[in-house]
Amino acid sequence: MSATSFRVDVPAGSVLFHQGDAPTSAFLLETGSIEVTTAQGAISRRLGVLAPGDLLGEMAVLDDSPRTATARALSDCVLMPIDRKQFAERLESADPVVRALLLSQISRYRSALAQLSGQSELPSSAIPTPRTNDAVLAMDKIRLESHLREALDKRELEVRLQPILDIERNRIAGFEALTRWTHPERGPVSPAEFIALAEETSLIVPVGDYVLDQVCGALQHLRGRVNGEPVFVALNVSGRQLDDAALLDRFLAVVHAHGLQPAQLKIEITESLVLNYEQVASIIARCHAAGLKVALDDFGTGYSNLGHLHKLEFDTLKLDQGFVRQMHEPRCLAIVRAIVAMAHSLGCDIVAEGVETTEQLHALGALGCTYAQGYLIGRPMLLDEAIAMV
Ligand code: C2E
Ligand code: MG
Ligand code: MG
Repeated sequence: MSATSFRVDVPAGSVLFHQGDAPTSAFLLETGSIEVTTAQGAISRRLGVLAPGDLLGEMAVLDDSPRTATARALSDCVLMPIDRKQFAERLESADPVVRALLLSQISRYRSALAQLSGQSELPSSAIPTPRTNDAVLAMDKIRLESHLREALDKRELEVRLQPILDIERNRIAGFEALTRWTHPERGPVSPAEFIALAEETSLIVPVGDYVLDQVCGALQHLRGRVNGEPVFVALNVSGRQLDDAALLDRFLAVVHAHGLQPAQLKIEITESLVLNYEQVASIIARCHAAGLKVALDDFGTGYSNLGHLHKLEFDTLKLDQGFVRQMHEPRCLAIVRAIVAMAHSLGCDIVAEGVETTEQLHALGALGCTYAQGYLIGRPMLLDEAIAMV
């Protein structure tokens, strides 16, 4: 057998590794074929024959345990070694649920092998710790996700409405819909947590549809109660929802089924690392063609990318609450002034988020900011409270 860090040559009949060996690396079989056997006492059992493209020896590397089988070349073989680090880095960045599933599968496979070879128990070093902190967290996450599915089925998610004030006219112009979930044991779970959880799976699709349905119901009630100008309701839509090509058609069908005007609904999109600007620009164009308004949420935080901003023809820019909180500092005030001016020259409204004091409200009014949203104006409230407010 000859080896470099990129290539291992194993002549026919030679052994690549023996059962019980400490793992060095995994291998990708490039050419040739390899027989994998496991010994149980005097009996050797063939587990399989590997062909080019197959991976071998990865299990012992993943859980750092002795080899459970022997690999012997049936013909001249060329293999590419795969370093433990290459797996470790990917595993560390993998979804903890996927990592827990993988380790539990390895653990089960090792127990089955142990039973097959007559061992009642494996040496502790040969079994990955089944209940690592990581695995517990992963299982907690799966449990929470199942509870969220159940809450959705039982229609237990609640949509609250937070008022948005037209600063100049001093009247409520609309609301933002914010979803609330009270877990039977944990109590209230923040939307930042459960929306992120729903986004990791396709659960965000039914959650989003449910919220829209609730919002349309609320808009119908509001329309019946408000005399004069119509109010709008803004709805948060996450990046994952935007990947769903049928989203907009479903949205419009629900809006029409409730007998509403699309212009009463505003879609809030948050800039994020995953945002594909071309895709979002085309979604905005489709929203506009259908009469829906679009807001860019949490502007100025995290991933705001001025180089791409001109491609997104949104109607409203929502200034992140971090700016409002620090507006007493002259440099922050200067930035807010510039953002308000930029929004106006782009022809869009601007909503300041997180307005908590009258000083902040007056300062924003003086800068020409269109709308204010925050605890000063009102907390996210029940539909009846929202109706009373307008
Ligand atoms: P967001 O869209 O930026 O919503 C504003 C957040 O700021 C809300 O937090 C709101 O309760 C909070 N807030 C409003 N005024 C004030 C204030 O004066 N002071 C402070 N400190 N906070 C204020 P919430 O409800 O916890 O929502 C967090 C995020 O979760 C939202 O941020 C939104 O991105 C997301 N979210 C909420 N509901 C939904 C939903 O139904 N679908 C989707 N996709 N995302 C949602
Ligand atoms: Mg929002
Ligand atoms: Mg926001």
